[in-house]
Amino acid sequence: MRIDVLSLFPQMFEVPFSFGIFKRAIDQKLVSIHLHNIRDYTHDKHHTVDDYPYGGGSGMVLKPEPIFEAVEAIKDEVHAEAGAAELPSILLTPQGRLFNQQIAQELSQYRHLILICGHYEGIDERVREHLATDEISIGDYVLTGGELPALVVIDAVIRLLPGVLGAEFSAREDSHVDGLLEYPQYTRPAVFRGWAVPEVLLSGNHAQISRWRREQIIRRTLERRPDLIKMEELEPEERQLVKQLTSSVKKSQSSVNKEPEE
Ligand code: SAH
Repeated sequence: MRIDVLSLFPQMFEVPFSFGIFKRAIDQKLVSIHLHNIRDYTHDKHHTVDDYPYGGGSGMVLKPEPIFEAVEAIKDEVHAEAGAAELPSILLTPQGRLFNQQIAQELSQYRHLILICGHYEGIDERVREHLATDEISIGDYVLTGGELPALVVIDAVIRLLPGVLGAEFSAREDSHVDGLLEYPQYTRPAVFRGWAVPEVLLSGNHAQISRWRREQIIRRTLERRPDLIKMEELEPEERQLVKQLTSSVKKSQSSVNKEPEE
């Protein structure tokens, strides 16, 4: 996969890409990251990338010309390569669709992505209207620039590429992959400060362990993110467990609140 990033501060990407799984994926050529400074696509003496907003107001807005030129230059280069098809150009913006594991999965299917990072007050609306093919937000809060959001998206996407995590890791059982949260993990020592690892994990009984893990998945998703539970996607036994847990929670709540009608 090739990822092109447009930013005013491409240096912000250098450190994260120099370590660990990112670095290994790049060294093994599983992914190539091309950083572009938007300023390099300006033509005036001062390399102007932003300007005052029409209609007044505070802050500066990124000008459309250098961003269009940068994306067009990338497209020209990529289209020269054989087999190049459509090229998603993704704008990072707090107004975009909310990023999640499913979107990461979807993006990991492309051979090529362009990510456009805004700054200051944002980007001229014509970039969104006529250049971007997708808009992504990493959450309902506002950051100073699109660089951290782009890193979040890149991280989530490249760890899904075949070969990136290697044999020692597995993304299959991670939280959100099948729509639920992961079971709790333990490592040595078996007893730490008096807190013991659940007995079943030391039993060596794989069937029991996997039953325990599945139960934990349901339990903690129900406790923390009940919105993620889709009854129709569960096994009959698991549905039973959800019902049991929900009714025991209700009972304990009503005994606390002492509300007879509950
Ligand atoms: N005035 C804009 C916000 C500008 S924030 C608005 O209200 O919509 C400056 C830049 O940071 C944006 O252009 C975007 O690229 C990036 N950014 C900020 N918060 C973000 C978020 N939650 N998700 C993705 N990008 C974000």
